[in-house]
Amino acid sequence: MSDRKSKRCTGGPDKNNLIFNLLVRVPVKVYLSRPMEKVVIIGSGPAGWTAALYTARAQLAPLVLTGQQPGGLLTTTSIVENFPGFPEGVDGYELMTRMQKQAERFGAKTSFGVVESVDFSQKPFALIVDGEKVLAETVIIATGAGHKHLGVPGEHELETKGVTYCATCDGALPAFRNQPLVVVGGGDSACEEAQYLTRFGSVVYLVHRRDSLRASKIMAERTLANPKIKPIWDSAITEILDVKQDNVTGVKLKNLKTGEEKILPVAGVFIAIGHVPNTKVFQGKITTDENGFIVPQQGTMTNVPGVFVAGDCADHVYRQAITAAGAGCAAAIDCERFLAAENQ
Ligand code: NAP
Repeated sequence: MSDRKSKRCTGGPDKNNLIFNLLVRVPVKVYLSRPMEKVVIIGSGPAGWTAALYTARAQLAPLVLTGQQPGGLLTTTSIVENFPGFPEGVDGYELMTRMQKQAERFGAKTSFGVVESVDFSQKPFALIVDGEKVLAETVIIATGAGHKHLGVPGEHELETKGVTYCATCDGALPAFRNQPLVVVGGGDSACEEAQYLTRFGSVVYLVHRRDSLRASKIMAERTLANPKIKPIWDSAITEILDVKQDNVTGVKLKNLKTGEEKILPVAGVFIAIGHVPNTKVFQGKITTDENGFIVPQQGTMTNVPGVFVAGDCADHVYRQAITAAGAGCAAAIDCERFLAAENQ
């Protein structure tokens, strides 16, 4: 995560602070004496708010712990054009604010809290949230995932100024139309992003650190057959230019075999080198795969009965706002049925 994304809200006129102000207007403090929650939802992206909406409408009064980035990754996107119901597109921050308001209208409670540890070994489940204990009958984990970062100079400074981690979200922006673009990575994501970007860019360079793609065969073949995609093998981006101009103008490339360096002029840098699920706090407490994604066992229920999962923290394939929202709905329904069966 970039510094901007990982920082707690601290003031200043950015979007996260606006959400923070919204949240603290009616603060919900978490105290030891607090009655046990029926449902605690960890995470406030599309999966979390949709789970909150459905469990709230089921009169379970869910508590949503927003995490350190209220609204999730979508709040860092400018225009979301692929969420159904918004023919003109919708600002990512606005979409998440609307989801929050909709869930709160039916009784969801919001707390600006970060989960530090969980104890799923006994019931009720115990969560330590900013030093305080929250007890819950059920938990829905919707903590999302973060983009893996390159960690090169210029990447953080030029994020949203030509550096992006989502072609589907940003590829159609005017700044990228008919311009040379570069995608970094050699997996399915990079191939998919490169193919998508050929609709907009004049040429799409695909920079990969090896001499063959890791992507599935069909995806790799389709990518390499596209005349608008120019692979650059055995190479790494060592710097994104130009911080002084406050805009992407190109990248510094290094051939990892020959050591040769050159500057490639581009208007956009699309980084697709994988995702990191936000599941560190659950490691060892719940079943995850080798990459840290939570593995649901039965519908959306994890290996711990009463703990459910939804969204990108369990999904390394689709990773769309709408699929996360759908998974949030499914988790809420599973959770509601679980509670009904428990309380019979
Ligand atoms: P991935 O398969 O892990 O590929 C990541 C790529 O980024 C690799 O080529 C890797 O290089 C490169 N990379 C990693 N760290 C790097 C760094 N620091 N600098 C430069 N390059 C770096 O990730 P993914 O493409 O996001 O795919 C994740 C999973 O989702 C996969 O299972 C994939 O099949 C699936 N997926 C499926 C679809 C689809 O079916 N439509 C679409 C997207 C993703 P190396 O090859 O050298 O390791």
